Amino acid sequence: MKKKRLIWQLFPTYLLVTLLALATVTVSYSREMKKFYLDHTAAELTSRAHLILPQLKSLMVAQDYNTVNKTVNTQAKYAATRITVILPSGVVVGDSDESPVQMDNHANRPEIARALKGSIGNSIRYSRTLQKNMMYVAVPVTIEKRITGVIRTSVPVSDIDRKLGDMRLRIILAVLVISILIAGISLYFSRRISRPIEELEAGAQQFAQGNLEHSLAMPDSAELAGLAEAMNEMAAELDWKVKTAFAQRNEIRTILASMVEGVIALNPNDRIINMNQAAADILEVPLPKEERRNLQEIIRHTAVEKLIRDSRTNNEPTSCDIVYNKSSEKTLHVRCAPLKDADETRIGTLLVIDDVTKLRQLENVRQDFAANVSHEIKTPLTAIKGFVETLKHHDIKDTAEQDRFLNIIDRHVIRLTNIIEDLMKLSVIEQDAMEKEIDFQAVRLIDVLQSAVDIYQNAAEERDITIVLTCDSDITIQADPSLLEQAAGNLLDNAIKYSEPGSEVILATSVTDTEVSINFQDHGIGIMKKHLPRVFERFYRVDKARSRQLGGTGLGLAIVKHITQTHGGHVSVESVVNKGTTFSIHLPLVAAKEEKSEA
Ligand code: ADP
Repeated sequence: MKKKRLIWQLFPTYLLVTLLALATVTVSYSREMKKFYLDHTAAELTSRAHLILPQLKSLMVAQDYNTVNKTVNTQAKYAATRITVILPSGVVVGDSDESPVQMDNHANRPEIARALKGSIGNSIRYSRTLQKNMMYVAVPVTIEKRITGVIRTSVPVSDIDRKLGDMRLRIILAVLVISILIAGISLYFSRRISRPIEELEAGAQQFAQGNLEHSLAMPDSAELAGLAEAMNEMAAELDWKVKTAFAQRNEIRTILASMVEGVIALNPNDRIINMNQAAADILEVPLPKEERRNLQEIIRHTAVEKLIRDSRTNNEPTSCDIVYNKSSEKTLHVRCAPLKDADETRIGTLLVIDDVTKLRQLENVRQDFAANVSHEIKTPLTAIKGFVETLKHHDIKDTAEQDRFLNIIDRHVIRLTNIIEDLMKLSVIEQDAMEKEIDFQAVRLIDVLQSAVDIYQNAAEERDITIVLTCDSDITIQADPSLLEQAAGNLLDNAIKYSEPGSEVILATSVTDTEVSINFQDHGIGIMKKHLPRVFERFYRVDKARSRQLGGTGLGLAIVKHITQTHGGHVSVESVVNKGTTFSIHLPLVAAKEEKSEA
């Protein structure tokens, strides 16, 4: 229902009350006026009767009724009043308006009857003689305490009515003018009361629309000014609270957005209250746009559901690793904790998700590595120990046999030394990379590659292998030359080791928009496809016996991969069995370009 405006409630009420009061005053005033006027007329008529009383009294004593009638007529003209003289018998002996002879007996007229009893009679009634309403006043004429007649004065009521009508008209006109004035004043005061309230209402609406910086103007009245002040204070307080809440929400959002861990906050019905971008990225789902989506609409995972159930039942944090399959298989560490408010009341559940795929893989690699290291070291040690025991406890006279045993021991010692050296190289590279102690400097790529070729030239010649190096002499890169030379050396060593005698090993470079590739191509035994993804792992060998026979440690490619990664690059391999293999080191071009501009 549409509500009436305050002014249209105040104004008509004011007007009605005032008009009612005015009407009451007017009606009672009119009545009083009428009464006053009638009383006044009656008094006037009485005094007129008394004025002519002495004159008529003597005529009546003389019973000169003719003169009485004449006198009455004369006096009536002056006084503008009808005058009638009546004898105690009711016979009219004088009248100013009518011939007394024609008038009937007046003894029963109420005013006459009263006057005949000695008091002043007074009545308003219809005059049969004049045929109109008249006001009569009858005064007794007393001679020596005996009523000898009655003098009656009268005026037509219509005269009184006309005069009263005139007065009423004036009163009505005055009331009308006053009413208009009152209406104007009422409207003015109603507006004075309603306008500040309307202004407060408009201000309150501004607050409701969120414009809390708006300030209400101070109305004149103390009560409304107090209200406006209270509302301004309330808005300022609200504004501060809203801003604080916004700032806190933004802080939380920023913190959540910058977190690496995925965070999902759930309400007691497992509907999402908050979810950060990391969670969406880890779970490979879009960040929910609508509020309060059910978690199951986003991910359906029995292990996660169980974790939430357990946390709810025990009301304490729980965690576990789950396998999550989307674009690839991932290991996620999910921690689930009760979400509590300031009163420690549970208001939901908090999930913190970590993608630990790499970590777990690394842990596995490290475990494998530890097992491999001990195995790789134990094998030559067992052999050395066996041959040393044999030499010690068996009396071997044959020097050739002794030499053979000692050579075997020597080979195993060399192998052990090589393994330990390679392990140390790996560890040093790791350490330096971590401590950022790699000696990066501008180097001409051709110089690094040439010095690696020089080191392995003899080994190549021994196996009748030709090394062909093609490299643009302009290519300068930012690198640690000794590390890069070591990586190139390892790849050249393998290329020579696993090539057929008489073949070529081609060392060539290629430059694209983004990187410099150094390719080591041989025409040797090649590697089967299934081994390719694993050849860079530590101690991984395609053919263990052959590798050992050739003095390999199984760590050469791992060192190459590590050195390349330390330089911000990556390694790759392509191979066809019995045709040959190409290992490549890819280094980002940024380093090379920067170096060129500096040079
Ligand atoms: P290793 O010391 O045994 O050579 P690497 O880490 O250098 O260890 O190499 C790992 C394995 O990869 C080798 O055992 C070998 O089987 C294979 N491999 C490396 N380079 C070549 C190559 N150029 N041609 C064929 N096989 C290779």
